[in-house]
Amino acid sequence: TTLPRVTYSNIRADFSGVHALLDRLIPEARDGALGKDWPNRIAGRADEGGALYEARSPIDDRLLLGRFRAADAAAVDRAVSAARAAARDWGALPWRERVAAVRAFAAELDRRKYDLAVACLLEVGKSRMEAVGEAEEAVDLARYYCDQMEENAGFERPLARAFEAEETSDRLRPVGVFAVIAPFNFPLALSVNMMSAALVAGNTVVYKPSPAAGLTGALLVAAAEAAGLPEGVVALLCGGAETGRALTAHPGIDGFAFTGSHAVGMGLLRQVAAGRFNRPVIVEMGGKNPTYVTPSADLDAATEGVLRSAFGLQGQKCSAGSKVYVHDDVRAAFLDKLLAATARVTVGDPAERDVFMGPVINQAALDRFQAAAAEARREGVILTGGERLTGGLYDHGCYVQPTIVADLPRDHRLNKEELFLPVLSVLGYTDLGEAIADGNAVDFGLTAGCYARDEADLALFLDRAEAGALYANRASGATTGAWPGIQSFCGWKGSGTTGKGGLGPYYVQQFMREQSRTVW
Ligand code: GLU
Repeated sequence: TTLPRVTYSNIRADFSGVHALLDRLIPEARDGALGKDWPNRIAGRADEGGALYEARSPIDDRLLLGRFRAADAAAVDRAVSAARAAARDWGALPWRERVAAVRAFAAELDRRKYDLAVACLLEVGKSRMEAVGEAEEAVDLARYYCDQMEENAGFERPLARAFEAEETSDRLRPVGVFAVIAPFNFPLALSVNMMSAALVAGNTVVYKPSPAAGLTGALLVAAAEAAGLPEGVVALLCGGAETGRALTAHPGIDGFAFTGSHAVGMGLLRQVAAGRFNRPVIVEMGGKNPTYVTPSADLDAATEGVLRSAFGLQGQKCSAGSKVYVHDDVRAAFLDKLLAATARVTVGDPAERDVFMGPVINQAALDRFQAAAAEARREGVILTGGERLTGGLYDHGCYVQPTIVADLPRDHRLNKEELFLPVLSVLGYTDLGEAIADGNAVDFGLTAGCYARDEADLALFLDRAEAGALYANRASGATTGAWPGIQSFCGWKGSGTTGKGGLGPYYVQQFMREQSRTVW
């Protein structure tokens, strides 16, 4: 097609063609792709082990997404055995052949990207443009790691010679079987991110999507099979915490790639550290991401960027900007603009063209929202929002208002913990260095944003903010919207182990182990 690509930064392009396509595909999917049984997949075949569970759309609880199997311990064991059996041949392939296979997977994802986006929209309540953007990102991610293999010549290189008759090479080799455990919020991009890096590096994958994202998970594995990836190279195991525990406890797993909450990620690190020997654990966890609005800011850009970061995908991004530090001199002017813009945010069925916010993912998220709003009301001031929405479709999902809170004490829980909700806390400041120090004083370090025309303020931000991805003066999202090859996406501190950078040039290496070979 000649439709424009949807990326998170070309937000002003004309997407009417994409919308017209979605106008057709969304009703088709509601009638066609939904409500089916999706067995797990092991070595290219259906596996019926484990209890069936139903998943319903967060948009409307009357929409049955499908029925999935919560893989039990025996199914986990079958999947790991199949992955081990496949690992030897896959890992022994010349790296260029693996690159070709993963490129075929990327091409298949590209062919299916609008269907994948629609499934993602219906499954996790993502807006149209965020869903299509995510599908595009998934394709780019798979291609990006292939590019990395090529740019680095498969990570094989000669080292120095000690003796004339001796040759040494250094190479990064596969690890074996990777467990890939993905979150609900970017079920396409983050699954493909971990899977494609693991695969191109020469590992086989046992993949567990979020229990809230079995449909997109099953569609991704179907795409991998259709692309001709060898049997056994990718297994699909649906299920929740119990399946996750059986998978991470299995002794046949050689490495782990996890994206999700801080608590679960830290638990996985501790669990592996308690084992007999070290295995790679790549965890991408949460964020508590600040944005600084300085006196020299372009307030319109700041308004749009802060709003997109705080409320895009209902605040359920690890990159979400959940705190904004506003200089006292511009506080009134900025808040006027931000409140006016927030009043225009539409909350509803994300299948509709102009809906910016869909529902939060489930009842537990709604409960957390209501608890946070009650605390904010008690200990600060709610400038807008704070309520669940009711009536009509709202009664069939967990829809909440975009919420802005001011005057919370700086050390308040809501200013320190990741909420994963559309709740933005506004803090005042007079000294930027002091504000940045406070923004850094959390357990996380994923993203940070700043709006400043003044060079000294900008330099201070870039120098001092403790986060893996810094963004200055971006209207398309103050702290969100990283793109493969354009931003690296590194979690500092409690945000992750990829101090070396997901989405960037140092990611795929983490799925490999180094070896030198000296031959006389
Ligand atoms: N890559 C996304 C972004 O930059 C965030 C991914 C996440 O929430 O895990 O906004």
